Amino acid sequence: VVDDGRTTPATAGTTVVDHIGLLVTNDPARGAGPLGVLHDAHLVLDGDRVVAVGTGPAPAADRRIDAGGRCVLPGFVDSHTHLVFAGDRSAEFAARMAGRPYEAGGIRTTVDATRAADDGRLRRSAARRRAEGRAAGITTVEIKSGYGLTSEHEARTLRLGRELTPETTFLGAHVVPAEYDGRADDYVELVCGPMLTACAPHARWVDAFCERGAFDVDQCRAVLDAGRRAGLGGRLHANQLGPGPGVRLAVELGCASVDHCTHLDDGDVAALAGSATVATLLPASDFSTRQPYPDARRLVDAGVTVALATNANPGSSHTTSMAFCIALAVREMRLTPDEAVWAATAGGAAALRRDDLGRLAPGCRADLVVLDAPDHVHLAYRPGVPLVSVTIEAGRVRFPGADAPD
Ligand SMILES: [Zn+2]
Repeated sequence: VVDDGRTTPATAGTTVVDHIGLLVTNDPARGAGPLGVLHDAHLVLDGDRVVAVGTGPAPAADRRIDAGGRCVLPGFVDSHTHLVFAGDRSAEFAARMAGRPYEAGGIRTTVDATRAADDGRLRRSAARRRAEGRAAGITTVEIKSGYGLTSEHEARTLRLGRELTPETTFLGAHVVPAEYDGRADDYVELVCGPMLTACAPHARWVDAFCERGAFDVDQCRAVLDAGRRAGLGGRLHANQLGPGPGVRLAVELGCASVDHCTHLDDGDVAALAGSATVATLLPASDFSTRQPYPDARRLVDAGVTVALATNANPGSSHTTSMAFCIALAVREMRLTPDEAVWAATAGGAAALRRDDLGRLAPGCRADLVVLDAPDHVHLAYRPGVPLVSVTIEAGRVRFPGADAPD
């Protein structure tokens, strides 16, 4: 790949990406199948937007990126992460692989480490993980709080998260902190009151962990209702470790997304299918906790909109690789490679209610990935191989960036 614009810092002017062997647009009106696939294609970018998509010879532009016959697809939209944290839980992972069960309470280990870290350390480690994800093709990331669990520490997490993305989520109801042991309702009152007031200015979304060992359905409803009154959109962690009422609560409250969705009954699937709530599946956490995978095939066949996300976090899913999630979704959750790639791009955009992301069509944000592969199937076909050769985010080449070694 020749990147003529490598030393051009700003997004000003037009860029052509040409000689694209296979282009995934996710725009069925523009190309073949649900992925809107075009062959021998080009893209024209102006500033941070896509302005034209076509086949054959490309028009003149200020800069040219030659894809050399490779595959280009929309950048991955990672709609569920916990990127701002301190500490390491590899010993817990090793113990779990040796047979200890996964429980929600392990989150407290990260809470202690995160509270103890200063802003600089949290900022640097989160930026490092963001760069890691960008190098793996992630152009949009959502970031949750939930490792502070005091008004001050939750607001700090969201403030630092905002430096990396506008898609920040207040997750004060992640776990009951140790100092509130046996007083979960008192903690929920704090979350819905002063903590929400401190956090709402730094957040777009509110989320809660609806699970045995975390928060019950009434507590989650209180948190999401309070968040909505403060102007935040709803999301929910639910049905990860066992069946429960979380999925139906998310649908009832019109949440943008309900995440995990491993243990679903027919009523849950029917509720999702008749709703605008996206089922966001997080297979890397099922992998790392040796839990069953959700049945993505059943969801897609029922007409549910499915997204894939990394759930990047130190306890249950310490990865920033969407390609790994795609491979798991294909191998273990019975999605086709086309469906998995759609879920990791357009599905993630739907989970964030963003119609400018996850597609390559005029007006969309210029977020795209050049794969070192002839087609997108290679993401699942070549598991564990880093196939992203260029990541363009809002029209700028961010990987390999101007500061990347030659
Ligand atoms: Zn999560």
